[in-house]
Amino acid sequence: MVISMIIPISVPFPKDWGRGDSTHSYLLKRELTVLIDAGLDSSDNRTYIRRTLKELDGLNIDYILVTHGHLDHFGLAGYLQRETGAEILVHELDATALKDYTKAISWYDEVYDYAVEGGYEPQELEKIRSKLLIAIEMMRTPDFFKPFRELTLDLGGYTLRSLSLPGHTPGSVGYAFGESVFSGDVAIEGSTVVGEFRQEMNSLQKLKSFKNIFAGHRKTPLTITDIESLETHFINRLEQVLRTVRSGMKLREVVNSIYGEMPEESFVRNIIPIRQTLSYLKYLEEEGYVVKKGPLWISVKESL
Ligand SMILES: [Zn+2]
Repeated sequence: MVISMIIPISVPFPKDWGRGDSTHSYLLKRELTVLIDAGLDSSDNRTYIRRTLKELDGLNIDYILVTHGHLDHFGLAGYLQRETGAEILVHELDATALKDYTKAISWYDEVYDYAVEGGYEPQELEKIRSKLLIAIEMMRTPDFFKPFRELTLDLGGYTLRSLSLPGHTPGSVGYAFGESVFSGDVAIEGSTVVGEFRQEMNSLQKLKSFKNIFAGHRKTPLTITDIESLETHFINRLEQVLRTVRSGMKLREVVNSIYGEMPEESFVRNIIPIRQTLSYLKYLEEEGYVVKKGPLWISVKESL
């Protein structure tokens, strides 16, 4: 496997997203040219990606493969499709996001119900919802895309295969290419947002059979050691949550004790810890470590 045929392109987050973060896209060049993920849509990013791809490959893309249905991964795909005619492919379980992103935030409604019961004010949650919807307005929907359950692409002597990696989102996939895998947000150095905890842990296990794990943000490629650190981080978090709810706690108190009081201005900073804490609690409940009585979560076992 020639690693130099993998060209990483970091697409910055627009300034109004507040942080100096970026999404890693990857260009694979063989007989066919594939772009894995596309970054957030903004006029600056359109100029940037257009110029970068033109320099690298004369703005020629056959496929845009989306690792999962989050805006910072497929936002620019619609624009690039119009510029290049590339076909956009995404796992069927995350395809709704590309059609109508407002429907892809159904997780929000579930979090909302638990959050209101757990001590959050409906008004503050509504504020977060409206910020999510503003973020959705920034993106341009792709003209057409193809959902798949499993994908195999022959890039001229090299085969690229999809690998189901649910947990961050239900339709998260990696694209496996020899000893390398492009894994989106399933693993990010330090931590990642978890929708479903058990699935996430299984997916991390799968990643460990690859030598180069090309992540969607921050450090890339990740190594097996990085994945093991991530697993340890999650297990420590579970232990922490379990200790925290020893004598019974509402969701809001659990979130505050894990993440501290959250500033009001950032929707990401507010909703993600609530969602993340809930995914830990639900997993602990399913495994018989925690019970929920009314609004209170209470541990029934000392440790994992
Ligand atoms: Zn994501």
